[in-house]
Formats: sequence, C-alpha cells, structure tokens
Amino acid sequence: MKMSHSEIVARLKAKVSDESTLLLEILDLLELVRERRIFTDYGYSSLFEFCTQELRYSESAAMRRINALRIQSKSSDIKNLIHQKIQQGSLNLSQLGVVAKLERSEKLTIDQLQNAIVASTNTSARETEKIVREKLQLAPLLMNTKIVVELDSAQLAQAEALASKYSHALPQKNLSGLFLYLLDQELKRETSKEAKSCARREAEKNCKINVHAKVDINADPKADIIPDFRSSIGADTRNSAKSEAGVKRDSLPTSVVKTSRVFSRDVQVLAAKRSGGRCEFVSQVTQRRCDSQWFLQFDHIHPWSLGGRSTLENCRVACGAHNRAEWKRVSQKTG
Ligand SMILES: [Zn+2]
Repeated sequence: MKMSHSEIVARLKAKVSDESTLLLEILDLLELVRERRIFTDYGYSSLFEFCTQELRYSESAAMRRINALRIQSKSSDIKNLIHQKIQQGSLNLSQLGVVAKLERSEKLTIDQLQNAIVASTNTSARETEKIVREKLQLAPLLMNTKIVVELDSAQLAQAEALASKYSHALPQKNLSGLFLYLLDQELKRETSKEAKSCARREAEKNCKINVHAKVDINADPKADIIPDFRSSIGADTRNSAKSEAGVKRDSLPTSVVKTSRVFSRDVQVLAAKRSGGRCEFVSQVTQRRCDSQWFLQFDHIHPWSLGGRSTLENCRVACGAHNRAEWKRVSQKTG
C-alpha cells in the first residue's frame, strides 16, 4: 500500500530520532575506546586512525565525533547538556564542530562553552559561528573584503597561463577565479593536515614518555644512525649519546631514565632499519601492523623488568601509543 505524505514524514521523524539515540550510543562507546585506549589493541596509534580505518568513517566524520568527545569530556554538566540537546534533535555534530573550533581558538571557559553549546542549537551550518560569536561577545567574523593585487607583466603572464591550465576548475573564468581556486586548494590541504595533526595529538595524549622521533630510513642510506631517532630508554643514554648531533638529551624525562634500560647503538641502528622507521606493533586481534611514525621508541618485547635482555631479537620499534599500552599491560601483570 502506498504511504501517505504524512505517514512518510512521521516515519522519517521517528528514524531521525533513532539516529540521535544511535549517535549518543556511538559517542559513549567511542569514549570507552578512548579511555581504555582500545585502539592500541587493534593496531592503531590514535583514535582518529581507529575511526577512519577500523570503523571506516570519513576523515571529516571521524573528526566531528572526536571533537564531540573532546568537548563532552570537559565536564559532566557539558556532557549532559550535549546529550540532552542531541536527543532533542536541536544539536548536531556540525554545530558541535564549530563550538569545538571556537573552544580551541578562543580558549573558552567552561561557562562560555556551555553558553556556546546552547547558542549553537537550532542554527544552520552557515550561521552557527556568527551566532555563537555574538552570544559570547567574541570578535565577529570578517565579512567580504575586496582586495587589489598589482602584478608585473611577467607575473601576469604566469597567472594567465595558470588560469588557462586550471580553467576547467575555476569558479570564475578570470584571475579572481584563479585566486579563489588556489585558495580553496590550499585550505583543503590545510584541513587534511589538521586532521592528521589531530591524529597525532590523540596519539600523544597522556603519553608522558614524550620523545619525538620521525624516522626516514630511506633518506640517507649511508647514514649508520638515524640522527633524529631518540631512544627514550636507559640511564646510560644520557651519557653515551651526548656525541649524537642534534639530539637534546636534557629533554629526556627522568621517569624514563630511572625505569628502563638502553639498547646498544648497533641494536638501535639495526632495529630502526628493520622497522622501516615505523611502529612494529602487530595487533593480536586484527593482525594489523601499526606502522605509525610518531614518537617512536625502542621497546623490550620481553620486558627488561621481567628479565628481558637488550638484544636485537628482544627489541622492537614502538610508537608512543603502543609503547605506553605495552608498559601499562606489563605493569598491570606485575603490579
Ligand atoms: Zn604503534
């Protein structure tokens, strides 16, 4: 039987309400994944990676959910408010995304955050930021601005060549169009960079062993040691590694120095080469290898505290998230 228009709309409204309930359930579960760092078990170094690869969210969908988690973790009142508004259907993840952006850029207090969430409800994507800024008495968004650019003849020729090259994609077939197109491309690139840096922040979060190492093994095949590759491990590291150029040993946290044991330089070089400059953690659940390049450290497979030795066989390269997860696992077992 054919549904009437009012039946279609009634059904749709019921489904939209189900969608809000589902979203809240998903946020709660994601919060557990973040709190318990379950993503590390599955071979990911960040919640963002877990969301995009394991849950197959798009980068922007993952960002919106992680932003919502970040905001709701500010206080239980904030969390209750967000849940209430989402359930009522007056708040969505895009509006929360705007609030999250302002929270970061304007360093909002908890009270301001609460006001911002309330102000953002029932606003259209285009006006959310303007309305929230007004409500919080923040500096208004800039309106359209006309700019004039002077080009010399060589620059003009180059610009025209570019405009003709990209003519199929330009919003207007002139130099203004070229400028807007290039701006748009650059902003998209920045957004994807921001998504990646969000992933990185997530990986760094709570990671007290804050040793940065980004390794490009292929950069210089002749290099016998990767200068940026810092072992966080071992009391000896401080003295023995003083000669390594460009490495600030003073930044090593003392907690690390006290509790761990250094791998020899040879072992470090071989392990770094074997790893390809990437985390070697392999998930027992998914068999996925992590491959993260962030905050790499040399880790004892069989913990040094349990008698593991500092040999190549017992050495693996682990990212910050997996080094920390492994440390936690071992200390729970032994403590
Ligand atoms: Zn890892």
